[in-house]
Amino acid sequence: MTGIVWKTLKSRQMELGPDDGRAGRWRNWRLSRDADGIGWLIADQPEASANTISEEVLEELDQVLAEVEQDPPRALVIRSAKASGFFAGADVKAFVGARDPAEIEQRMGRAHQVVDRLAALTAPTVAVIHGYALGGGLEIALACDHRILAGDEARLGFPEVQLGLHPGLGGTARLLDLIDPLEGMQMMLTGKTMRPGQAKALGLVDAVTEERHVRTAVKAVADGELKPKVKPLNRLRSQVTERLFSADLPRRAVADRMRGQAARQAPPEHYPAPGALVDLWERHGDDPKAMRKAEVASFARLMATDTAQNLIRVFFLREKMKKITEVSDSVAKPRHLHVIGAGAMGGDIAAWAAWHGLRVTLADLKPEIIAMAVGRAAELYPKLGHDSAKTRDALDRLIPDVKGEGVRHADLIIEAAPEKLDLKKKIYAGLEPKMKPGAVLATNTSSIRLEALAEGLHRPERLIGVHFFNPVSRMQLVELVTHEGVSDETLDVAKAFLGQIDRLPAPVKSAPGFLVNRALTPYMLEAMVMMQEGHAPETIDAAAEAFGMPMGPATLADQVGLDIGIAVADSLKANLDKPLPVPPDTLRGRVDRGELGRKTGKGIYEWKGNEPVKARSFAKPTQEMTDRLILPMIDACLECLRKGVVEDEDVADGAMIFGAGFAPFRGGPIHYARTHDPAALKARMEALARTQGERFAPDPGWDRLT
Ligand code: NAD
Repeated sequence: MTGIVWKTLKSRQMELGPDDGRAGRWRNWRLSRDADGIGWLIADQPEASANTISEEVLEELDQVLAEVEQDPPRALVIRSAKASGFFAGADVKAFVGARDPAEIEQRMGRAHQVVDRLAALTAPTVAVIHGYALGGGLEIALACDHRILAGDEARLGFPEVQLGLHPGLGGTARLLDLIDPLEGMQMMLTGKTMRPGQAKALGLVDAVTEERHVRTAVKAVADGELKPKVKPLNRLRSQVTERLFSADLPRRAVADRMRGQAARQAPPEHYPAPGALVDLWERHGDDPKAMRKAEVASFARLMATDTAQNLIRVFFLREKMKKITEVSDSVAKPRHLHVIGAGAMGGDIAAWAAWHGLRVTLADLKPEIIAMAVGRAAELYPKLGHDSAKTRDALDRLIPDVKGEGVRHADLIIEAAPEKLDLKKKIYAGLEPKMKPGAVLATNTSSIRLEALAEGLHRPERLIGVHFFNPVSRMQLVELVTHEGVSDETLDVAKAFLGQIDRLPAPVKSAPGFLVNRALTPYMLEAMVMMQEGHAPETIDAAAEAFGMPMGPATLADQVGLDIGIAVADSLKANLDKPLPVPPDTLRGRVDRGELGRKTGKGIYEWKGNEPVKARSFAKPTQEMTDRLILPMIDACLECLRKGVVEDEDVADGAMIFGAGFAPFRGGPIHYARTHDPAALKARMEALARTQGERFAPDPGWDRLT
């Protein structure tokens, strides 16, 4: 069954049991019984497009179960009436600001009682799952005796680790009891979702069927005909691993290996959840009941950490930024995009937009550059989705356009030509007369003021900036750059477009470096100054990683390209009224020699493919080095807020996390400063200004925090 069919599938086409007129007793559930004596318990949260697990949902489930116990059906089906899926996970809002482990433990203990009650029902229970069954939703399904997938669009997973948590509704023990513990641990440690085929192969579900066969499958459960089907090989492996892991020693050895692997992905001092999950399994892997009990305490401890609370904050920052793309229905969403310049950025923006359903014409002076961009798209698409028809359709929509004829039909034009004012203006002069009346002209410029680009345009209100980050497919942020003269209609079209292509907009005003490059430039340049002072790049990177930056500034500079870094720095220097670190001449020397970073195989580091070759041993960084890198980044964000370059603190934090990789578990630069004694942080900048120079003088923007 294809995604399109599922999306248009209405509840009335799903098998939801009879409507016996007693539906209104609970807000979130309805229970009915069919002629075969099968109970149908349907989750249907009011005013929501997806079901989530909340305390209210569980309390009501408890009442339902009490009724079911009084008069057990031949089998009880649990499923969702929402087209989007089974349950999208726990209602995260309930845990915002939860800081008392004892209180969380008590709440989770109560939730466990309800799920345990479901697991203890005498009637056979079967979760019928279509679409998403994530986190707490999957834990409900695991408490059932059977799981049947309806349709091939189901996705099962435990994404808790992305919120700094592990499953907390008994899922750790129930999953590891059901499937190969090693596979189960991987599933929880990575947070990856499973497709139906994988879920079936692992024994996570009993059957995958089509919607029209759901009723027959459920009846088979009631008649005792559906036995859990596990692949013989899998069963054998499970038995072997179970026997192996029931002995303490091998489990400990495997746990150590898992801990090591998890630590390489994310440092445990910043991300404690994977380690806590491994500890749980190591201690209680042979005793599901003890594991469920210990899970509650471990989950409560994690929930109360800064890491979990900040990652939950990041979850809501993403939601808030997504909302920016929700414009009125009267705004016509662009259907045809024309991209000018098929280089590193333009080519990838075009490919990304075509994947998301837009018809895209791609223009460049050189046909071979367009051909290379299409080649990159053909490599990217299979990584984005396994459906070869989708790849073919997206490639069909990506149309090489050497003559630039697409301009005449496009609803939106994105210019991604080289960063030269005169060149861009010349391109605009040529295309403006050809544009459709309502079409929008967007530029991907990273440093040219929009006012300068708007000069000479007949209709400057149609110009806007959409500043994508590299690589386009992985960086979720797009700075939406406005200028005085931009019209609301233009802004709305750009927002709608970013929604269509699943990117997160950060509205910013046209200003040197906008927000993200303004804040990242001092971070990278200070690293160059430190290198000039004699510090190893490895030490400098480690200074930033100690704070939690996923990529140190020396590695980042190589990734971005030293030539691009210098160009952005030069342009910022020329336009900022504040001092920036002065890049040493040796840096320009590298660029002159063609040592540009990753793209040339050599920059600050030597590169092997996508990885820099780093020395194993190097001097440890000092706290002062960390301060010199991180505090100016926070300072620049505060300056941007003070100047109104960005208006909203949350958007500033989100932009830095999604565009610059600012340590997510810190919750964003402004949030970090707010919650870490801002007066003391400011004093540390003042001290640095005295020893290192004026570039550390704190911006008056700190006043909003102190
Ligand atoms: P690029 O040099 O890789 O690509 C530019 C392309 O434009 C080239 O293929 C060139 O042939 C083509 N071109 C030049 N004149 C043209 C014309 N008149 N008509 C059609 N095509 C023309 O450059 P890039 O790195 O993709 O940068 C493009 C824009 O994106 C710049 O404004 C840059 O500042 C911005 N940007 C770059 C990055 C990055 O990391 N590279 C990130 C964000 C924004």
